[in-house]
Amino acid sequence: MEFSVLADSFNKMESTRKRLELTQLLVELFEKTPNEVISKIVYLIQGKLRPDFEGIELGVAEKLAIKAISKSSGISIKKIEEEYRKEGDLGYAASKILEQKTQTTFLVEDITVERVYETLFKISKLGGSRSQDMKIKYISSLLNDANPLEARYILKILLGSLRLGIAENTVMDALAIAFSGNKDNRKILEYAYNVSSDLGKVAEIIATKGLERIKKFEVVLFNPIRPMLADRVKSEEEAIGKMGTNFAAEYKLDGERVQIHVEGGKVVLFSRSLENISNYYPDIIEKIPKAIQADNAILEAEAVAINENTGDFLPFQELMHRRRKYKIEKAVTKYPITVNFFDILYCNGKICLELNYKDRREKLEKIVREDDFVKYIPMTIVKNENEIKDFLENSINAGSEGLMLKMLDKPYQAGSRGSNWLKLKREYQNELGDSLDLVVIGGFFGKGRRTGSYGTLLLATYDEDEDTFTSICKVGTGFSDEDLDQLYQILNPKVTIKKNPRINSEMEADVWFEPELVIEVVASEITISPIHQAAKDKIRKDAGLALRFPKFTGKIRLEKAAEDASTNEEVITLYKGQKKVAHDRNLI
Ligand code: ATP
Repeated sequence: MEFSVLADSFNKMESTRKRLELTQLLVELFEKTPNEVISKIVYLIQGKLRPDFEGIELGVAEKLAIKAISKSSGISIKKIEEEYRKEGDLGYAASKILEQKTQTTFLVEDITVERVYETLFKISKLGGSRSQDMKIKYISSLLNDANPLEARYILKILLGSLRLGIAENTVMDALAIAFSGNKDNRKILEYAYNVSSDLGKVAEIIATKGLERIKKFEVVLFNPIRPMLADRVKSEEEAIGKMGTNFAAEYKLDGERVQIHVEGGKVVLFSRSLENISNYYPDIIEKIPKAIQADNAILEAEAVAINENTGDFLPFQELMHRRRKYKIEKAVTKYPITVNFFDILYCNGKICLELNYKDRREKLEKIVREDDFVKYIPMTIVKNENEIKDFLENSINAGSEGLMLKMLDKPYQAGSRGSNWLKLKREYQNELGDSLDLVVIGGFFGKGRRTGSYGTLLLATYDEDEDTFTSICKVGTGFSDEDLDQLYQILNPKVTIKKNPRINSEMEADVWFEPELVIEVVASEITISPIHQAAKDKIRKDAGLALRFPKFTGKIRLEKAAEDASTNEEVITLYKGQKKVAHDRNLI
């Protein structure tokens, strides 16, 4: 398939944010795509080469790309940098430069999607001392044969700056229309995606084998399943109202969710955002095979830091020591953990998702053998408000965050947040009702004690419909000196010359960041805001929502991707909830 077809599509897609138009452009593109390349096209649309869980990073720095453009065009690095500064985007700058060049040379060979993809793949695999030269060679050879528009998109993919704003749901809508003629079949595709986390694979199967085959989609060991998530409730009473009078309550431990895939001695761990995190937990890798009484299994657990002497649970932050590179062996002994199992998704070659909670828990207790390191999450069946209260009290005393409440007769709904699981935290019972996980989009330089760091951060929610990050507040309180240091280290490499197009903010910041880092904040209230863009026009025309008195809780949520941050829908629910509480208390 000619790469120019893809570049033309990208060009059209970049000029719209409307979901229906994007879907139509995708359908047209899929219809022109031969089956052998459909999976590649789906990955490239998302600016990837493979599904996220494979952890393939292109990792090409701007400097290196500039050298490659210079090599291929014969134009000096300085001139390219000037053009880049003017355009604010290296892809655009390169196409401008190559436009001048193509007037004097002619193209040697048409480039195909396959060739671009294979070359990018080779680049992603390069490491070591000579890798820079090789990368430059590969990139410039592609650019030599590319027309300006193709060059723009090759560079955008390489630099990770291709942002078409196409959500996974839109891709699935388009696949359903293109290959089954009916958008409603998206639901069937969604199941396949939720159990494989691999949209390219789903596309390939529907294109080559049709919808019937998708219906029989199998879970594959070592491919992560998208996690089931919980709705929040504010009180025991609300939980009873939603779940009736016979459901399970489990401790909500304050650790990191780990999806454990195991077969024989092989163990692979995935985080909540489906990143392969096996390297951070060599202790789990080593000890799990002994504890599992099955040929193979996919299990879910919460890894929690513990006090070695007392066995008490420690807060989530303690686990983050394991994220520091090169010191993992030390961290394993210095910050010990236990692994607390709460679900089983696959066992001895069979999917368990359709089993109800009760049967899954029974199976889990049969398959997993407890010891000092391996535990089941404490669980009890509750029938009334008092029993929930007592268990919540026990859970908080044991150092956990609250309770997870789970319907006994319901299956595991991969990839969805719903009311078959509810979370009840002590902190929900006051003020706003919950903490929010927000994306850091901008920074303001600190003064006084905070000189040399970002004293205040601009934060955003995730807008699922638009696939953008909408500003919701500035936060400058709750930071210790150590937090400020750590945030500076993390955020500095994310500074961009121009605001990322996915950021939606009317407020100006001193610096803009790639929208990647998620931090947790609490606030006293959600208010209508003329400036902030979160949930714009949803509650009041021409106004968004903002947080009042936001405060950083100390939690940097490295395990969450930006798209896992609190959404505008969640903020609207909290806003309405707070109005209802005020109303119930006769405050308004
Ligand atoms: P939060 O920010 O409250 O951790 P979340 O968005 O990560 O929420 P939710 O499904 O809303 O995910 O809340 C469940 C989270 O709580 C899980 O992702 C998991 O990390 C953690 N957890 C702790 N104990 C349990 C449990 N018993 N069952 C399920 N999840 C648990």
